[in-house]
Amino acid sequence: MKTALITGGSRGIGRALVERFAREGWRVAFGYHRHPENARDLAARTGTVAIHGDLADAQDTAHFLGEAIRQLGHVDALILNAGVAHSGLITDMTAEQWDSLMAVNLRASFLCARGVLPVMRAHGGGSVVMISSMWGRRGAAHEAAYSASKAALIGFAQALAREVGPCGIRVNCLAPGVIKTAMLDGYAQTELDALAEQTPLGRLGTPEEVAAAAWFLCSDDASFITGQTLAVDGGFL
Ligand code: NAP
Repeated sequence: MKTALITGGSRGIGRALVERFAREGWRVAFGYHRHPENARDLAARTGTVAIHGDLADAQDTAHFLGEAIRQLGHVDALILNAGVAHSGLITDMTAEQWDSLMAVNLRASFLCARGVLPVMRAHGGGSVVMISSMWGRRGAAHEAAYSASKAALIGFAQALAREVGPCGIRVNCLAPGVIKTAMLDGYAQTELDALAEQTPLGRLGTPEEVAAAAWFLCSDDASFITGQTLAVDGGFL
C-alpha cells in the first residue's frame, strides 16, 4: 500500500490533503499541534494516523518523524504543508517572531526532508511536495517574513530536486493563491471580496483544489515532473 506523511493535517489545506490521499486508498499519517480534537476526529473518520508534534521544536519534530516512519514503514509521499502566517510592518516585527515563523515554515521542512529522504531512497523513490504560496513567487506587503519563507521553500525544492533526482525522488512546490481556510480569519470580508475580485477566476480557492494538485504531483501521472512550482491561484499572478 502507498503511504503519505502530511504535516499540518488537522485543518484547512492539510485536512483536505489527508482526506484526498485516504480516499485514494493510501495509508496516511499526519501531524497536528494545537487542535487535537480536529486531528482525532479526522483520523477516526478517514482511518488515518494523527501524530502530535510542535514543528517549531527540533526535538518534537524528530519524535514526530520517528513515530510517523514507525507507523507507515516507508514513505511514498511527503507533503510539507504546516505553516504559519504573520501580518504586519517589517519594522514592527521582532527577531523572535521572525525566528518562530521561519522555524515552522522553513526549518521544519528541512528537518522533515532530512529525516524522510533516506527512508524514501531505501524504498526506491518517492515524491516530496512543499506548500509554498503565491507570495513566495511575488512578495506581499505586510507579509515580508512569510513571503521570504515561502520563496525559500521554492529554492529549497529546486535544489533538492537536483540532489535526490538520481535516487528516484521528485520534489515540487505548490503555490496556492487565496484559499478559504482559518489562515484568513484575520481578514475582513471586504478584504476577502477584494482578493476574490483580483483573482481572474473571480473567487477564492478551496483546500480541496490544492489537495487535487498535490495528489497529481504525487501520482504516477507526474512521473517526469520535478523541481517545479505549480500555481493553484485562480490566475492571480
Ligand atoms: P491553517 O488552516 O492555519 O492550518 C495550518 C496547519 O499547520 C494546521 O494543521 C496546524 O496545526 C499546522 N501547524 C501550524 N503551526 C504548527 C507547528 N508549530 N507545529 C505543527 N503543526 C503546525 O492554514 P492553511 O491555510 O491550511 O495553510 C496550510 C499551508 O498552506 C501553509 O503552509 C500556508 O502557508 C499555505 N498557504 C495557505 C494559503 C491560504 O490562503 N490559506 C495560501 C497559500 C499558501 P494545528 O492547527 O493542530 O496547530
